[in-house]
Amino acid sequence: MRRRDFIKLAGVAALSGCASRSPSKARVVVIGGGFGGATAAKYIRIWDPSIDVVLVERDADFISCPISNLVLAGFAGMEDITRGHDGLERHGVTLVRDEAVGIDASKKVVRLARGGDIAYERLIVSPGVDFMFGEVPGFEPAMQAGRVLHAWKAGPQTVALRRQLEQMRDGGLYVLAIPLAPYRCPPGPYERVSVVAAYLKQAKPRSKVLVLDANPDITSKGPLFKRAWSELYPGIVEYRGNSRAIGVEGNSMTVKLEVEDVKGDVLNVVPPHRAADLAAKAGLVTTNNRWCDVDWRTMESKAVKGVHVLGDATLSAPAMPKSASMANNHAKIAAAAVVDLLNGREPQPLKILNTCYSFVSRSEAIRVSSVHEWEPGQGTLVPVKGSGGVSAARSEAEANYAWSWARSIWADSLV
Ligand SMILES: Cc1cc2nc3c(=O)[nH]c(=O)nc-3n(C[C@H](O)[C@H](O)[C@H](O)COP(=O)(O)OP(=O)(O)OC[C@H]3O[C@@H](n4cnc5c(N)ncnc54)[C@H](O)[C@@H]3O)c2cc1C
Repeated sequence: MRRRDFIKLAGVAALSGCASRSPSKARVVVIGGGFGGATAAKYIRIWDPSIDVVLVERDADFISCPISNLVLAGFAGMEDITRGHDGLERHGVTLVRDEAVGIDASKKVVRLARGGDIAYERLIVSPGVDFMFGEVPGFEPAMQAGRVLHAWKAGPQTVALRRQLEQMRDGGLYVLAIPLAPYRCPPGPYERVSVVAAYLKQAKPRSKVLVLDANPDITSKGPLFKRAWSELYPGIVEYRGNSRAIGVEGNSMTVKLEVEDVKGDVLNVVPPHRAADLAAKAGLVTTNNRWCDVDWRTMESKAVKGVHVLGDATLSAPAMPKSASMANNHAKIAAAAVVDLLNGREPQPLKILNTCYSFVSRSEAIRVSSVHEWEPGQGTLVPVKGSGGVSAARSEAEANYAWSWARSIWADSLV
Protein backbone atom coordinates (compact mmCIF):
# COMPACT_ATOMS: atom_id res chain seq x y z
CA MET A 1 0.00 0.00 0.00
CA ARG A 2 1.33 3.42 -0.92
CA ARG A 3 1.88 5.89 1.93
CA ARG A 4 -0.63 8.23 0.38
CA ASP A 5 -3.32 5.49 0.35
CA PHE A 6 -2.55 4.68 3.94
CA ILE A 7 -3.05 8.26 4.97
CA LYS A 8 -6.36 8.25 3.11
CA LEU A 9 -7.46 5.09 4.90
CA ALA A 10 -6.45 6.50 8.24
CA GLY A 11 -8.55 9.50 7.33
CA VAL A 12 -11.56 7.26 6.72
CA ALA A 13 -11.11 5.56 10.07
CA ALA A 14 -11.28 8.98 11.66
CA LEU A 15 -14.23 9.95 9.50
CA SER A 16 -16.22 6.85 10.37
CA GLY A 17 -15.52 6.95 14.08
CA CYS A 18 -16.42 10.50 14.93
CA ALA A 19 -18.92 11.95 12.56
CA SER A 20 -20.55 13.96 15.36
CA ARG A 21 -17.23 15.63 16.34
CA SER A 22 -16.91 17.29 12.96
CA PRO A 23 -17.25 21.07 13.08
CA SER A 24 -18.57 21.14 9.51
CA LYS A 25 -22.20 21.69 8.57
CA ALA A 26 -22.61 18.15 7.25
CA ARG A 27 -20.77 15.43 5.39
CA VAL A 28 -21.67 14.46 1.83
CA VAL A 29 -20.17 11.24 0.50
CA VAL A 30 -19.83 10.81 -3.27
CA ILE A 31 -19.25 7.35 -4.78
CA GLY A 32 -17.55 7.32 -8.19
CA GLY A 33 -15.01 9.87 -9.39
CA GLY A 34 -16.03 9.83 -13.07
CA PHE A 35 -17.76 12.67 -14.89
CA GLY A 36 -20.77 12.77 -12.56
CA GLY A 37 -19.21 12.14 -9.17
CA ALA A 38 -16.08 14.27 -9.55
CA THR A 39 -18.13 17.26 -10.73
CA ALA A 40 -20.62 16.93 -7.88
CA ALA A 41 -17.85 16.71 -5.27
CA LYS A 42 -16.12 19.81 -6.63
CA TYR A 43 -19.24 21.97 -7.00
CA ILE A 44 -20.60 21.23 -3.51
CA ARG A 45 -17.30 22.47 -2.07
CA ILE A 46 -17.37 25.58 -4.29
CA TRP A 47 -21.00 26.41 -3.49
CA ASP A 48 -20.74 25.71 0.26
CA PRO A 49 -17.23 25.21 1.70
CA SER A 50 -18.70 24.46 5.13
CA ILE A 51 -19.89 21.06 3.83
CA ASP A 52 -17.38 18.19 4.10
CA VAL A 53 -17.15 16.17 0.91
CA VAL A 54 -15.61 12.68 0.75
CA LEU A 55 -15.14 11.10 -2.67
CA VAL A 56 -14.79 7.29 -2.85
CA GLU A 57 -13.18 6.10 -6.11
CA ARG A 58 -11.64 2.68 -6.66
CA ASP A 59 -9.44 3.48 -9.67
CA ALA A 60 -6.08 5.21 -9.37
CA ASP A 61 -6.71 7.50 -12.35
CA PHE A 62 -9.55 9.13 -14.20
CA ILE A 63 -9.50 7.72 -17.74
CA SER A 64 -11.88 9.48 -20.12
CA CYS A 65 -14.13 7.56 -22.52
CA PRO A 66 -14.55 10.72 -24.62
CA ILE A 67 -11.53 10.82 -26.98
CA SER A 68 -10.76 7.13 -26.26
CA ASN A 69 -11.90 6.21 -29.78
CA LEU A 70 -9.03 8.36 -31.08
CA VAL A 71 -6.63 6.23 -29.01
CA LEU A 72 -7.93 3.12 -30.81
CA ALA A 73 -7.18 4.79 -34.12
CA GLY A 74 -3.70 5.89 -33.01
CA PHE A 75 -4.68 9.58 -33.26
CA ALA A 76 -4.24 10.18 -29.49
CA GLY A 77 -2.44 8.39 -26.66
CA MET A 78 -3.60 7.09 -23.27
CA GLU A 79 -1.71 10.02 -21.71
CA ASP A 80 -4.11 12.41 -23.48
CA ILE A 81 -7.17 10.86 -21.79
CA THR A 82 -5.69 10.14 -18.35
CA ARG A 83 -6.02 12.61 -15.49
CA GLY A 84 -5.61 12.55 -11.70
CA HIS A 85 -8.20 13.37 -9.05
CA ASP A 86 -5.70 15.56 -7.16
CA GLY A 87 -7.26 18.79 -8.41
CA LEU A 88 -10.30 17.99 -6.28
CA GLU A 89 -8.17 18.03 -3.15
CA ARG A 90 -7.42 21.68 -3.80
CA HIS A 91 -11.17 22.28 -3.40
CA GLY A 92 -11.03 20.51 -0.04
CA VAL A 93 -12.53 17.20 -1.24
CA THR A 94 -11.22 14.22 0.79
CA LEU A 95 -10.27 11.40 -1.59
CA VAL A 96 -10.68 7.80 -0.49
CA ARG A 97 -9.12 5.31 -2.89
CA ASP A 98 -11.35 2.31 -2.24
CA GLU A 99 -14.36 0.43 -3.51
CA ALA A 100 -17.75 1.09 -1.94
CA VAL A 101 -19.29 -2.35 -1.39
CA GLY A 102 -22.52 -1.43 0.31
CA ILE A 103 -24.82 1.36 1.40
CA ASP A 104 -26.90 1.20 4.58
CA ALA A 105 -29.41 3.98 3.96
CA SER A 106 -31.13 3.47 7.33
CA LYS A 107 -27.86 4.09 9.18
CA LYS A 108 -26.61 6.51 6.49
CA VAL A 109 -23.26 4.80 6.04
CA VAL A 110 -21.20 3.61 3.09
CA ARG A 111 -19.25 0.37 3.56
CA LEU A 112 -15.75 0.13 2.06
CA ALA A 113 -14.01 -2.95 0.63
CA ARG A 114 -10.88 -2.44 2.73
CA GLY A 115 -12.95 -2.12 5.88
CA GLY A 116 -14.63 0.73 7.69
CA ASP A 117 -17.78 2.73 7.18
CA ILE A 118 -18.19 6.38 6.27
CA ALA A 119 -21.20 8.20 7.68
CA TYR A 120 -23.05 10.70 5.50
CA GLU A 121 -25.81 13.24 5.70
CA ARG A 122 -26.46 12.99 1.96
CA LEU A 123 -25.01 10.44 -0.47
CA ILE A 124 -24.33 10.92 -4.18
CA VAL A 125 -23.80 7.82 -6.32
CA SER A 126 -22.36 8.05 -9.86
CA PRO A 127 -20.98 4.56 -10.50
CA GLY A 128 -21.47 4.38 -14.27
CA VAL A 129 -22.47 1.10 -15.91
CA ASP A 130 -21.70 -2.59 -15.75
CA PHE A 131 -22.27 -5.06 -18.56
CA MET A 132 -25.01 -7.70 -18.93
CA PHE A 133 -22.61 -10.40 -20.07
CA GLY A 134 -25.34 -13.05 -19.87
CA GLU A 135 -27.09 -11.41 -22.84
CA VAL A 136 -24.20 -12.40 -25.12
CA PRO A 137 -23.28 -16.01 -24.20
CA GLY A 138 -19.60 -16.76 -24.76
CA PHE A 139 -18.54 -13.12 -24.55
CA GLU A 140 -17.25 -13.17 -20.98
CA PRO A 141 -14.86 -16.15 -21.37
CA ALA A 142 -13.70 -14.77 -24.72
CA MET A 143 -13.05 -11.41 -23.05
CA GLN A 144 -11.21 -13.01 -20.16
CA ALA A 145 -9.04 -14.86 -22.67
CA GLY A 146 -8.29 -11.47 -24.26
CA ARG A 147 -9.75 -12.54 -27.62
CA VAL A 148 -12.90 -10.40 -27.82
CA LEU A 149 -13.09 -6.96 -26.21
CA HIS A 150 -15.68 -4.27 -25.60
CA ALA A 151 -13.39 -1.31 -24.77
CA TRP A 152 -16.57 0.48 -23.65
CA LYS A 153 -14.89 1.59 -20.43
CA ALA A 154 -11.70 3.42 -21.25
CA GLY A 155 -8.65 1.74 -19.71
CA PRO A 156 -6.77 -1.54 -20.25
CA GLN A 157 -9.23 -2.72 -22.92
CA THR A 158 -8.63 0.47 -24.92
CA VAL A 159 -4.91 -0.36 -24.99
CA ALA A 160 -5.56 -4.03 -25.81
CA LEU A 161 -7.98 -3.25 -28.66
CA ARG A 162 -5.53 -0.76 -30.15
CA ARG A 163 -2.88 -3.50 -30.08
CA GLN A 164 -5.25 -5.95 -31.81
CA LEU A 165 -5.93 -3.40 -34.57
CA GLU A 166 -2.21 -2.77 -35.02
CA GLN A 167 -1.56 -6.51 -35.25
CA MET A 168 -4.44 -7.22 -37.66
CA ARG A 169 -3.30 -8.26 -41.15
CA ASP A 170 -3.91 -5.96 -44.10
CA GLY A 171 -7.10 -7.35 -45.63
CA GLY A 172 -8.49 -8.27 -42.20
CA LEU A 173 -12.02 -7.66 -40.91
CA TYR A 174 -12.78 -5.53 -37.83
CA VAL A 175 -16.31 -6.22 -36.50
CA LEU A 176 -18.08 -3.86 -34.11
CA ALA A 177 -21.32 -5.16 -32.52
CA ILE A 178 -23.55 -2.46 -30.99
CA PRO A 179 -26.24 -3.26 -28.39
CA LEU A 180 -29.84 -2.06 -28.46
CA ALA A 181 -30.28 1.46 -27.05
CA PRO A 182 -30.13 2.67 -24.35
CA TYR A 183 -26.35 2.33 -23.98
CA ARG A 184 -23.71 4.88 -22.94
CA CYS A 185 -22.91 7.44 -25.62
CA PRO A 186 -25.37 6.93 -28.51
CA PRO A 187 -22.99 8.24 -31.24
CA GLY A 188 -19.89 6.59 -29.67
CA PRO A 189 -19.97 3.34 -31.70
CA TYR A 190 -20.34 5.20 -35.01
CA GLU A 191 -17.46 7.50 -34.10
CA ARG A 192 -15.42 4.36 -33.41
CA VAL A 193 -16.33 2.92 -36.81
CA SER A 194 -15.26 6.17 -38.50
CA VAL A 195 -11.88 6.62 -36.86
CA VAL A 196 -10.96 2.93 -37.06
CA ALA A 197 -11.84 3.09 -40.77
CA ALA A 198 -9.60 6.17 -41.08
CA TYR A 199 -6.72 4.27 -39.47
CA LEU A 200 -7.23 1.17 -41.64
CA LYS A 201 -7.54 3.21 -44.83
CA GLN A 202 -4.14 4.71 -44.16
CA ALA A 203 -2.32 1.72 -42.56
CA LYS A 204 -3.98 -1.43 -44.00
CA PRO A 205 -6.05 -0.29 -46.98
CA ARG A 206 -7.36 -3.73 -47.96
CA SER A 207 -9.08 -4.16 -44.59
CA LYS A 208 -12.80 -3.76 -43.87
CA VAL A 209 -15.06 -2.62 -41.04
CA LEU A 210 -18.34 -4.47 -40.46
CA VAL A 211 -20.92 -2.83 -38.18
CA LEU A 212 -23.48 -5.17 -36.61
CA ASP A 213 -26.06 -2.86 -35.04
CA ALA A 214 -28.84 -4.33 -32.90
CA ASN A 215 -30.78 -1.13 -33.57
CA PRO A 216 -32.73 -0.78 -36.82
CA ASP A 217 -30.63 2.22 -37.85
CA ILE A 218 -27.86 4.53 -36.62
CA THR A 219 -29.11 5.99 -33.34
CA SER A 220 -27.48 9.45 -33.51
CA LYS A 221 -26.33 11.82 -36.29
CA GLY A 222 -27.20 9.06 -38.83
CA PRO A 223 -27.11 11.07 -42.09
CA LEU A 224 -23.80 12.73 -41.14
CA PHE A 225 -22.14 9.41 -40.29
CA LYS A 226 -23.48 7.71 -43.44
CA ARG A 227 -22.21 10.56 -45.59
CA ALA A 228 -18.77 10.43 -43.99
CA TRP A 229 -18.55 6.67 -44.54
CA SER A 230 -19.58 6.83 -48.19
CA GLU A 231 -17.36 9.81 -49.01
CA LEU A 232 -14.29 9.04 -46.89
CA TYR A 233 -14.29 5.24 -46.60
CA PRO A 234 -16.03 3.83 -49.70
CA GLY A 235 -15.78 0.04 -49.79
CA ILE A 236 -14.34 -0.07 -46.27
CA VAL A 237 -17.37 0.34 -43.97
CA GLU A 238 -20.35 -1.99 -44.24
CA TYR A 239 -23.33 -1.19 -41.98
CA ARG A 240 -26.02 -3.74 -41.05
CA GLY A 241 -29.00 -2.68 -38.89
CA ASN A 242 -31.24 -5.11 -36.96
CA SER A 243 -28.19 -7.34 -36.41
CA ARG A 244 -28.05 -8.18 -32.71
CA ALA A 245 -25.12 -10.23 -31.40
CA ILE A 246 -26.65 -13.19 -29.55
CA GLY A 247 -23.42 -15.03 -28.86
CA VAL A 248 -19.67 -15.06 -29.27
CA GLU A 249 -17.27 -17.92 -29.97
CA GLY A 250 -13.81 -16.75 -28.97
CA ASN A 251 -11.81 -19.69 -30.35
CA SER A 252 -13.25 -19.45 -33.86
CA MET A 253 -13.56 -15.61 -33.63
CA THR A 254 -17.26 -15.72 -34.46
CA VAL A 255 -20.15 -13.42 -33.62
CA LYS A 256 -23.50 -15.22 -33.71
CA LEU A 257 -26.51 -13.33 -35.07
CA GLU A 258 -30.12 -14.55 -35.24
CA VAL A 259 -29.81 -15.55 -38.92
CA GLU A 260 -26.11 -16.20 -39.51
CA ASP A 261 -22.63 -16.32 -37.99
CA VAL A 262 -19.96 -13.75 -38.80
CA LYS A 263 -16.23 -14.36 -38.49
CA GLY A 264 -13.72 -11.54 -38.07
CA ASP A 265 -10.07 -10.85 -37.32
CA VAL A 266 -10.78 -8.34 -34.55
CA LEU A 267 -14.10 -8.70 -32.73
CA ASN A 268 -15.26 -5.69 -30.72
CA VAL A 269 -18.55 -6.63 -29.09
CA VAL A 270 -20.28 -4.16 -26.77
CA PRO A 271 -22.75 -6.05 -24.56
CA PRO A 272 -25.92 -4.32 -23.29
CA HIS A 273 -25.38 -2.50 -20.03
CA ARG A 274 -27.16 -1.45 -16.86
CA ALA A 275 -26.53 0.72 -13.79
CA ALA A 276 -23.30 -0.46 -12.14
CA ASP A 277 -23.28 -3.26 -9.55
CA LEU A 278 -23.25 -0.97 -6.54
CA ALA A 279 -26.54 0.66 -7.61
CA ALA A 280 -28.19 -2.76 -7.79
CA LYS A 281 -26.74 -3.85 -4.45
CA ALA A 282 -27.97 -0.67 -2.79
CA GLY A 283 -31.55 -1.08 -4.03
CA LEU A 284 -31.34 1.99 -6.28
CA VAL A 285 -32.38 0.16 -9.46
CA THR A 286 -36.06 0.78 -10.17
CA THR A 287 -36.67 -0.04 -13.85
CA ASN A 288 -36.26 -3.21 -15.97
CA ASN A 289 -33.60 -4.46 -13.55
CA ARG A 290 -31.33 -1.92 -15.22
CA TRP A 291 -31.71 1.76 -14.39
CA CYS A 292 -32.25 4.09 -11.41
CA ASP A 293 -35.20 6.48 -11.57
CA VAL A 294 -34.64 9.90 -9.97
CA ASP A 295 -36.44 13.14 -9.24
CA TRP A 296 -34.93 15.35 -11.93
CA ARG A 297 -35.18 18.46 -9.74
CA THR A 298 -32.68 17.05 -7.24
CA MET A 299 -31.39 13.76 -8.72
CA GLU A 300 -32.64 12.09 -5.52
CA SER A 301 -33.39 8.40 -5.98
CA LYS A 302 -37.06 7.46 -6.21
CA ALA A 303 -36.22 4.26 -4.33
CA VAL A 304 -33.92 5.35 -1.48
CA LYS A 305 -34.30 8.69 0.32
CA GLY A 306 -31.19 10.78 0.93
CA VAL A 307 -29.32 9.15 -1.97
CA HIS A 308 -28.83 11.02 -5.26
CA VAL A 309 -27.95 9.09 -8.44
CA LEU A 310 -26.16 10.65 -11.43
CA GLY A 311 -24.93 9.87 -14.89
CA ASP A 312 -25.23 6.71 -16.93
CA ALA A 313 -26.80 4.77 -14.05
CA THR A 314 -30.03 6.82 -14.21
CA LEU A 315 -33.20 5.95 -16.07
CA SER A 316 -32.76 8.59 -18.76
CA ALA A 317 -35.38 11.33 -19.09
CA PRO A 318 -37.05 11.54 -22.54
CA ALA A 319 -34.53 12.05 -25.38
CA MET A 320 -31.68 12.39 -22.89
CA PRO A 321 -28.48 10.56 -23.90
CA LYS A 322 -26.14 8.78 -21.52
CA SER A 323 -23.14 11.06 -21.93
CA ALA A 324 -20.31 12.72 -20.05
CA SER A 325 -21.91 16.03 -20.85
CA MET A 326 -25.15 14.92 -19.18
CA ALA A 327 -23.42 13.33 -16.18
CA ASN A 328 -21.55 16.62 -15.61
CA ASN A 329 -24.87 18.49 -15.76
CA HIS A 330 -26.68 15.98 -13.52
CA ALA A 331 -23.89 16.63 -11.03
CA LYS A 332 -24.66 20.34 -10.99
CA ILE A 333 -28.37 19.67 -10.38
CA ALA A 334 -27.44 17.37 -7.48
CA ALA A 335 -24.78 19.68 -6.05
CA ALA A 336 -27.12 22.68 -6.09
CA ALA A 337 -29.96 20.63 -4.56
CA VAL A 338 -27.77 19.12 -1.84
CA VAL A 339 -26.38 22.55 -0.90
CA ASP A 340 -29.94 23.94 -0.78
CA LEU A 341 -31.28 21.04 1.28
CA LEU A 342 -28.42 21.23 3.79
CA ASN A 343 -29.04 24.96 4.13
CA GLY A 344 -32.79 24.58 4.66
CA ARG A 345 -33.76 25.94 1.24
CA GLU A 346 -36.03 24.35 -1.34
CA PRO A 347 -34.13 23.20 -4.46
CA GLN A 348 -35.14 24.83 -7.74
CA PRO A 349 -35.22 22.94 -11.06
CA LEU A 350 -32.34 23.67 -13.45
CA LYS A 351 -32.14 23.75 -17.24
CA ILE A 352 -29.29 21.58 -18.56
CA LEU A 353 -27.39 21.18 -21.80
CA ASN A 354 -25.94 18.25 -23.70
CA THR A 355 -23.26 18.45 -26.39
CA CYS A 356 -21.72 15.38 -28.01
CA TYR A 357 -18.97 15.68 -30.61
CA SER A 358 -17.92 12.73 -32.76
CA PHE A 359 -14.80 12.52 -34.88
CA VAL A 360 -15.41 11.08 -38.35
CA SER A 361 -11.71 11.24 -39.27
CA ARG A 362 -8.51 12.42 -37.63
CA SER A 363 -9.27 16.05 -38.45
CA GLU A 364 -13.05 16.37 -38.88
CA ALA A 365 -15.96 16.04 -36.46
CA ILE A 366 -19.73 16.47 -36.15
CA ARG A 367 -21.89 17.55 -33.21
CA VAL A 368 -25.33 17.06 -31.68
CA SER A 369 -26.69 19.21 -28.86
CA SER A 370 -29.90 19.57 -26.86
CA VAL A 371 -31.30 21.54 -23.92
CA HIS A 372 -33.50 19.88 -21.26
CA GLU A 373 -35.86 21.63 -18.83
CA TRP A 374 -38.21 20.62 -16.01
CA GLU A 375 -41.79 20.12 -17.17
CA PRO A 376 -44.03 20.08 -14.08
CA GLY A 377 -46.99 18.46 -15.90
CA GLN A 378 -44.89 15.46 -16.93
CA GLY A 379 -42.75 15.51 -13.79
CA THR A 380 -39.52 15.10 -15.74
CA LEU A 381 -36.94 16.94 -17.84
CA VAL A 382 -37.94 17.31 -21.51
CA PRO A 383 -36.05 18.70 -24.53
CA VAL A 384 -36.67 22.42 -25.07
CA LYS A 385 -38.49 22.79 -28.41
CA GLY A 386 -36.35 24.44 -31.08
CA SER A 387 -33.14 24.10 -29.06
CA GLY A 388 -30.04 22.19 -30.09
CA GLY A 389 -29.62 20.29 -33.36
CA VAL A 390 -26.80 18.74 -35.36
CA SER A 391 -23.91 20.15 -37.41
CA ALA A 392 -24.75 21.13 -40.98
CA ALA A 393 -21.71 19.17 -42.19
CA ARG A 394 -18.51 17.60 -40.86
CA SER A 395 -15.68 20.10 -40.50
CA GLU A 396 -12.24 20.77 -39.09
CA ALA A 397 -13.74 23.58 -36.99
CA GLU A 398 -15.97 21.02 -35.21
CA ALA A 399 -12.88 18.84 -34.58
CA ASN A 400 -11.16 21.78 -32.90
CA TYR A 401 -14.29 22.43 -30.84
CA ALA A 402 -14.39 18.73 -29.92
CA TRP A 403 -10.87 18.86 -28.47
CA SER A 404 -11.72 22.12 -26.64
CA TRP A 405 -14.92 20.57 -25.28
CA ALA A 406 -12.95 17.59 -23.96
CA ARG A 407 -10.30 19.74 -22.29
CA SER A 408 -12.96 21.96 -20.72
CA ILE A 409 -15.09 19.12 -19.36
CA TRP A 410 -12.01 17.41 -17.88
CA ALA A 411 -11.09 20.70 -16.20
CA ASP A 412 -14.67 21.43 -15.12
CA SER A 413 -15.00 17.97 -13.56
CA LEU A 414 -11.56 17.62 -11.99
CA VAL A 415 -9.63 20.83 -11.52
C1 LIG B 1 -16.09 5.08 -26.49
C2 LIG B 1 -16.88 6.12 -25.73
C3 LIG B 1 -16.86 7.44 -26.17
C4 LIG B 1 -17.59 8.41 -25.48
N1 LIG B 1 -17.56 9.69 -25.94
C5 LIG B 1 -18.30 10.63 -25.32
C6 LIG B 1 -18.28 11.97 -25.80
O1 LIG B 1 -17.61 12.31 -26.78
N2 LIG B 1 -19.05 12.88 -25.15
C7 LIG B 1 -19.81 12.56 -24.06
O2 LIG B 1 -20.47 13.45 -23.51
N3 LIG B 1 -19.84 11.28 -23.58
C8 LIG B 1 -19.11 10.32 -24.18
N4 LIG B 1 -19.11 9.03 -23.69
C9 LIG B 1 -19.99 8.67 -22.55
C10 LIG B 1 -19.35 8.99 -21.18
O3 LIG B 1 -18.09 8.39 -21.05
C11 LIG B 1 -20.26 8.51 -20.05
O4 LIG B 1 -21.58 8.91 -20.31
C12 LIG B 1 -19.77 9.08 -18.72
O5 LIG B 1 -18.50 8.52 -18.40
C13 LIG B 1 -20.77 8.81 -17.60
O6 LIG B 1 -20.30 9.35 -16.38
P1 LIG B 1 -20.65 8.60 -15.00
O7 LIG B 1 -20.17 9.48 -13.89
O8 LIG B 1 -22.06 8.16 -15.01
O9 LIG B 1 -19.78 7.26 -15.05
P2 LIG B 1 -18.21 7.07 -15.20
O10 LIG B 1 -17.59 8.23 -15.87
O11 LIG B 1 -18.05 5.70 -15.80
O12 LIG B 1 -17.68 7.06 -13.71
C14 LIG B 1 -18.00 6.04 -12.82
C15 LIG B 1 -16.89 5.98 -11.78
O13 LIG B 1 -17.35 5.26 -10.63
C16 LIG B 1 -16.32 4.40 -10.18
N5 LIG B 1 -16.99 3.35 -9.42
C17 LIG B 1 -17.97 2.52 -9.84
N6 LIG B 1 -18.38 1.74 -8.84
C18 LIG B 1 -17.64 2.07 -7.76
C19 LIG B 1 -17.62 1.60 -6.42
N7 LIG B 1 -18.42 0.63 -6.01
N8 LIG B 1 -16.73 2.16 -5.55
C20 LIG B 1 -15.89 3.15 -5.97
N9 LIG B 1 -15.88 3.63 -7.23
C21 LIG B 1 -16.75 3.10 -8.11
C22 LIG B 1 -15.63 3.94 -11.46
O14 LIG B 1 -14.33 3.48 -11.19
C23 LIG B 1 -15.66 5.23 -12.30
O15 LIG B 1 -14.51 6.02 -12.05
C24 LIG B 1 -18.36 8.04 -24.34
C25 LIG B 1 -18.37 6.71 -23.90
C26 LIG B 1 -17.65 5.76 -24.58
C27 LIG B 1 -17.66 4.34 -24.10
